[in-house]
Amino acid sequence: MSDIIHLLPDSVANQIAAGEVIQRPASVLKELVENSIDAGATHIQIVIKDAGRTLIQVVDNGKGMSETDARMAFERHATSKISSADDLFSIRTMGFRGEALASIAAVAQVELRTRREEDELGVMIEIAGTRVFKQEVVHCDTGTAFLIKNLFFNVPARRRFLKSDNVEKGHILNEFYRIVLVNPDISFSFYDADEEIFQLPPSNVKVRIENIFGKNAKKRWQQQLLSIETDTNLVSIKGYVGKPEFAQKTAVQYFFVNGRYMRHPYFHKAVIMAYNQMIQATESPNYFIYFEVDPQTIDINIHPTKTEIKFENEQAIWSILSAAVKESLGKFNVVPSIDFDQEGAIDIPTNVNIENVRPPQTSFNPNYNPFTSNYKRPTLDWEQLYGDFEKKEKTVEPVDELEFQSVITTETVEQQQKIETVEARAENFQFKNRYILTGIKSGLLMIDQQRAHTRILFDLFLSQMENQKAVSQQVLFPEILDLSPDDDLIFEQMLPDLNLLGFDFEKNGSNSYSIKGVSSYTGTASVENLLLEMIDKAKTTAEEISSGLHESIALTLAESASVKSGQRLTNEEMNDLIDRLFACENHNYTPDGKKIMTIFTADELEKRF
Ligand code: ADP
Ligand code: MG
Repeated sequence: MSDIIHLLPDSVANQIAAGEVIQRPASVLKELVENSIDAGATHIQIVIKDAGRTLIQVVDNGKGMSETDARMAFERHATSKISSADDLFSIRTMGFRGEALASIAAVAQVELRTRREEDELGVMIEIAGTRVFKQEVVHCDTGTAFLIKNLFFNVPARRRFLKSDNVEKGHILNEFYRIVLVNPDISFSFYDADEEIFQLPPSNVKVRIENIFGKNAKKRWQQQLLSIETDTNLVSIKGYVGKPEFAQKTAVQYFFVNGRYMRHPYFHKAVIMAYNQMIQATESPNYFIYFEVDPQTIDINIHPTKTEIKFENEQAIWSILSAAVKESLGKFNVVPSIDFDQEGAIDIPTNVNIENVRPPQTSFNPNYNPFTSNYKRPTLDWEQLYGDFEKKEKTVEPVDELEFQSVITTETVEQQQKIETVEARAENFQFKNRYILTGIKSGLLMIDQQRAHTRILFDLFLSQMENQKAVSQQVLFPEILDLSPDDDLIFEQMLPDLNLLGFDFEKNGSNSYSIKGVSSYTGTASVENLLLEMIDKAKTTAEEISSGLHESIALTLAESASVKSGQRLTNEEMNDLIDRLFACENHNYTPDGKKIMTIFTADELEKRF
């Protein structure tokens, strides 16, 4: 029997190795741009086509390569960045394994043009599947231009493994953000085919963040960033954290160490815990935190696609980080920003007679022991609460929201009767134009009107999306919605739902839409802002189209269309709101988990007298 072990041909071995480094178009982009940064470029231009499948071009004004180096660069383990194993521990450059270009050349068609400042002529190399097709002397600018065409042209399995253009573009943008956020002094331009996606001038970190994420909501980003800064002999930490009120379901969160993006779930906890009680459990703050440590004290994962990094002094740094975040949040609390949004603000009456103001009386039961008390959670079952009422009034039919509005305006005989029965049922009191107080069998029920209406509308919108029966309202002078490319990816996924809710858009070219029709519930507020807010919320579910997306759309619209705190309601309106609230399956909490109502039991109230 002949021997069966043989060596793989080079081309196959290279393809296998390439699979480690180059998994998708985004990996090519990352490797090329990092090389440009290592080469000292101050301007980097990126062009992609078809989400990078057919073309990725990176042009820099860095130091370029000599003819020999240009040829050498494609050899596996060819690098100018480390020369001994010791260097591995003090790596400051992005690349160091000398594998990226070899890998890219193994699985794509590559064209390189490069020239050093001191050379009169540059060199052009064409290489594909590791074979050099052309090498010649050319006129070109100082710096390096890489053109990567038809990625995985020779690896069909890899090509099939790629996801939709939207997903691949999303990956590309993520890599792009990770790089540009640590290199604010380098200018970047980014084109998708002929369309300019980003034009980022050299700036500082804060402006870079605003330029990227605040493209369509600059103010939102300018208002929310609080700087953090701390310097110890273990670590220096700088960066920005978002104010609690700007927390979102999918927040923008970045850690960097020594100029490199990293994931660090343990440090992430430190940040989140610093926001303790300030934000909803379902939301998370935005942050951009930059660590600088002695490279000897971290173990950067040598694997090029892994972003986890091990720190020698993890616990100490955890505490330092936590303190730094708390400090800046604390400062912010002492000096609140000027913000005209009064929602949730404490209502301070202006006409108080100071002499009559007395300190509030508190009382407590010294014998109360929470562990032995037989206190029971009140059941908030509507039928039980309204047990006093006539049977026929207890069953509340789900009412269409439009009907709700017409109850107040149109006076048909039937509705007139309805109002009367409602009135006969309960006398409500509206406290601070914000809470509805109403007597019930077991005590006093207090309902947050805005939250209640949000729940009602949310349920209604979800059912509209299921039953496809929304009323649209045509707009006479359409507003224009301009989106950033990654927002547009999400928006496209939201379009079918928005159409079901009565919205109507016309595309004006890439990332731009005319708003031609809106849901009949959109109030007077800017539709553009409403949609941007929806996109922000929907980012949670951008990865896959799921029921989560319906819900986030329904919630944003519901929050925007709901009766607001501060709005005076008539007794009929209050009664209707209460009815409709209790017709909702989950009437105790808003869709995002905020409490809608509370009960002061008769017992509790009695104890106060
Ligand atoms: P690494 O970055 O790990 O060294 P690469 O395969 O990415 O390995 O690149 C190999 C070498 O090619 C680099 O060490 C560098 O000397 C050279 N090189 C690559 N890209 C550029 C560029 N844009 N400008 C100048 N030199 C470059
Ligand atoms: Mg490299």
